[in-house]
Amino acid sequence: MTRYSINGTEFPSSSPLFQAALESAYKNRIRPICLCVEPGLPMYIAHLERSFVVKRMPDTGASHGPGCESYEAPPGLSGRGEVDGHAIENNDEGTVNLKLAFSLRHNNPAEMENESTQKTAAKTSGTRLTLRGLLHYLWDESKLSHWTAEQKGKRSWFAVRNALVEAVESKETKSAALKEILYIPEVFDEERRNDIASRRIRSLSSIMGPGKSGKKLMLVVGEMDRIAPATFGFALKIKNLPDFPFVMDADLNKNFEKVFQISKNLWEYTPDSHLMVIATFVLDDAGIPTVEEMCVMLTSPEWLPVDNKLEQQLIAELVKQKRSFQKQLRYNLSPDKPVATAVLTDCYNAPLAMYIDVDDLVGRWASTVAINEVVRSNSIQTWMWVPRDGLSPDLPAKMGTEAKAIQQVDEPLLIVEEDATPTHASDSAAILEPSTVKAAPQGDSADELSTRGESAISSAFQPKTATNLTVMTPRTPALAEVTPISQPKVDLTGFPFLPGQGLHGPLAPVEHIDSVEPNQ
Ligand SMILES: [Zn+2]
Repeated sequence: MTRYSINGTEFPSSSPLFQAALESAYKNRIRPICLCVEPGLPMYIAHLERSFVVKRMPDTGASHGPGCESYEAPPGLSGRGEVDGHAIENNDEGTVNLKLAFSLRHNNPAEMENESTQKTAAKTSGTRLTLRGLLHYLWDESKLSHWTAEQKGKRSWFAVRNALVEAVESKETKSAALKEILYIPEVFDEERRNDIASRRIRSLSSIMGPGKSGKKLMLVVGEMDRIAPATFGFALKIKNLPDFPFVMDADLNKNFEKVFQISKNLWEYTPDSHLMVIATFVLDDAGIPTVEEMCVMLTSPEWLPVDNKLEQQLIAELVKQKRSFQKQLRYNLSPDKPVATAVLTDCYNAPLAMYIDVDDLVGRWASTVAINEVVRSNSIQTWMWVPRDGLSPDLPAKMGTEAKAIQQVDEPLLIVEEDATPTHASDSAAILEPSTVKAAPQGDSADELSTRGESAISSAFQPKTATNLTVMTPRTPALAEVTPISQPKVDLTGFPFLPGQGLHGPLAPVEHIDSVEPNQ
């Protein structure tokens, strides 16, 4: 439980006196101090409709203790680092300016084609949020990307929607406040159907009618129900909006099937998972909504976003083991850019960045080489899962339980640099944005990893050890099938090199992960 000091008096955030103390501090312009670390971190107070809440100052999330309510993983571990300060600008005391990479004006199809090309450029520079970037931002802001065991069974659409609605507050875009242009369907109830419909009409009133310079668009965020053939093309049906299907034209549907195939297949394959939709739409003169641009995001049954089958497996294991963690999100980044899957906040060496090394030689996901490069520059310690042989993740021990010994990398990883291989289309780029996946340098360090032996190091969970990387040893065969992200398994035996040998002879060891000497 996080404790705060207000004007010299200490309060746990659960204290019944806390609200009154916050109200008084708000009026007297006194900053609460979060006591999670010495000597404490100044906070600010936001006045919501019915309550006062303590919020952390901009850019201080990673300075809080890992167990603190205000802790946020360093932005460099996820796609957040690329857009922070550019597409997302924090103003003093709470308001945030968001720059968007998609249009909120209705264009004819030819213009949309050009628009889409410009967006791709914007996407790579991180100066504007794509649809997916915005959805990931909302998920982080609402803390739906955070998980503790206490939340089990408490996340319904009602709770998710409330969290999103609160997160949208104080967010501005160039054209309007985000809450004016974002529609999030409320929980549907047949008996309240008419009330709900009139509230929806009120929310959408700003985009009704022709408008001076073309029609305006709005955003919708909701959960996919299904896409069904309809007389006018296709109908996108969103859960809790049974009486408000969105029109999708045939091209958009075809694009959707192509670009989001992996997410859609995993969604259909996994019971209780959710497929979130974010889309821009226009209302025609009859008031019928038509989708202009859309993106989807697959989540676990707990509404934690997952990129692929392996992430899905790791997140399921973390939830099952009642762990506390923060899911890391890609924002604008393409799938081949390495991001941490999660940051574990309840283990001995917390915060601990968790990576999955898919060992992806075909280039859809980040390669071993690319992951190791990123890991070397991380400011926090790293845990790596290498599931190449279909193994289940063996998680770092939880604080307060007996520390399990885990193989620890304390020698340099040998990395083979090779020519880049051709890549496949990006799965999760927003639709209508041509994929810009670049070929990442490929390599193979798995032979080195798998020959590190079974000897366990008992001090593996001493906090702040000299090295910053732990790697799972291959031990338990997986019970569930682990699909290598729908790519054909690559046969390494045909590769013309052995461990420690590159294409052009023996390899020089790469720079050490940390300053510790090998074989310590
Ligand atoms: Zn704190």
